[in-house]
Amino acid sequence: MNELTKLSADALASKLAAGEVSSVEATQAQLDRIAEVDGDIHAFLHVNTEEALAVARGIDEKRAAGEELHHLAGVPIAVKDMIVTVGQPTTAGSKILEGWHSPYDATVVKKLRAAGMPILGKTNLDEFAMGSSTEHSAYGPTRNPWDLERIPGGSGGGSAAAVAAFEAPLALGTDTGGSIRQPGAVTGTVGVKPTYGGVSRYGAIALASSLDQIGPVSRTVLDAALLHEVIGGHDPQDSTSLTDPCTGLVDAARQGALGDLSGVRLGVIKELGGEGYQAGVEARFQESLELFRSAGAEIVEVSCPSFSYALAAYYLILPSEASSNLAKFDGVRFGLRELPKDGPLTIERVMGATRAAGFGEEVKRRIILGVYALSAGYYDAYYGSAQKVRTLIQRDFDAAFSQADVLVSPTAPTTAFKFGEKMADPLAMYLNDVATIPANLAGVPGMSLPNGLAEEDGLPSGIQLLAPAREDARLYRVGAALEAMHEAAWGGSILDKAPLLNGASAGNTPQLHTPDLGGK
Ligand code: GLN
Repeated sequence: MNELTKLSADALASKLAAGEVSSVEATQAQLDRIAEVDGDIHAFLHVNTEEALAVARGIDEKRAAGEELHHLAGVPIAVKDMIVTVGQPTTAGSKILEGWHSPYDATVVKKLRAAGMPILGKTNLDEFAMGSSTEHSAYGPTRNPWDLERIPGGSGGGSAAAVAAFEAPLALGTDTGGSIRQPGAVTGTVGVKPTYGGVSRYGAIALASSLDQIGPVSRTVLDAALLHEVIGGHDPQDSTSLTDPCTGLVDAARQGALGDLSGVRLGVIKELGGEGYQAGVEARFQESLELFRSAGAEIVEVSCPSFSYALAAYYLILPSEASSNLAKFDGVRFGLRELPKDGPLTIERVMGATRAAGFGEEVKRRIILGVYALSAGYYDAYYGSAQKVRTLIQRDFDAAFSQADVLVSPTAPTTAFKFGEKMADPLAMYLNDVATIPANLAGVPGMSLPNGLAEEDGLPSGIQLLAPAREDARLYRVGAALEAMHEAAWGGSILDKAPLLNGASAGNTPQLHTPDLGGK
């Protein structure tokens, strides 16, 4: 394994700036790593070899000509296949979009291009970002680099696994109910859901528009801050985009890394722990609270009683919005068109045949749920009640933030589970997001960072930090402080303990493929 692939994005950026390495070398090293391990991991649905190298070459030339470049210029990145890109396919993990190419770039992709970051390819996900394991991808699941028999989280398992397996130093994800943070927790990576409106959603395929946010996936808190500042800021093409400039995050991460949290009040959310949380996950969480105390932070307990209704409210609001957003996949405008086997060729029947063939089970389940929740006669009882619960959750956050600067909880109740374990029971799958969903319902920013290995299974667990809306910088300060204390305690990054890194796997070619998971 080329040592370049082990560098953080910040360290690689410094080497590029110093002329110690070229972007072509760094990008080629990542492509080689993808070729080496992605046959097993299946983090990528598409690898963008030629374009990535061409962008890298262009950056090297500009640097040689003495042009002033962005700090991350030449640093390669992977993009979740929920985000549209010109020149590469975008599938959202669905058969219904197989072979579809977007005619425009998402705003975040434009920003990556403007910063000069080569895009390595598109990463795997649960179909239309519905799921917590990537098992709902129409193109086969992604495997967790820590244990190839286990899920990498979801829906953004591809982005998290790519970063954890050193296939990319950085990636973009989307988080509607935890799809950046929960994969971060179970793969030992950092993931951030920005404040709602902080990063443009233009060009992120809409799942639930009032909940969706694009955010960074990385191996260090500082790297997440660097990427967040690239993609954040106002976008007139997103009507919910905030006008705030996206600054101060990198500074906050650098300040946090100094390790002083005196004057910071951290609120432990009473409702996010206890029953249903794995003992090893809780044990690591308690240890981190001690570390926070040793850095001078004050720990208080806060109560958010309405959080116990968050999952129920989310699974009414998300399907409702999704059923409306996904209505555009009609067999006419995008991707797949399937004709009915017999009978008349009416528009409704073509639409029906296309959706029957193009959508997977989980997507169909949620469309049915959403259409039902929005139907006349049930609207007030289901969708209306869920919106009321959403307000109560926002009030819980307001009250909690009057007592604490940052709230903390485990990110996910358990470590990575085995393939197939939760596929038969949608409710068991939904429970993975019990700790991450409240942030989306309230629009507040959240970060997950590695929190050590659970002793029962030796797998990574995550800690979640939550801040008030527009206070994303607090996550970076507190996150970087904890990361620095962890690195001192662990003697380096948690990923140094990942088995795959200490014994690479068979070299298969990275192509669209379905790994054989023994009948799964
Ligand atoms: N796992 C959650 C769900 O299935 C979260 C999805 C997401 O954040 N995109 O809805």
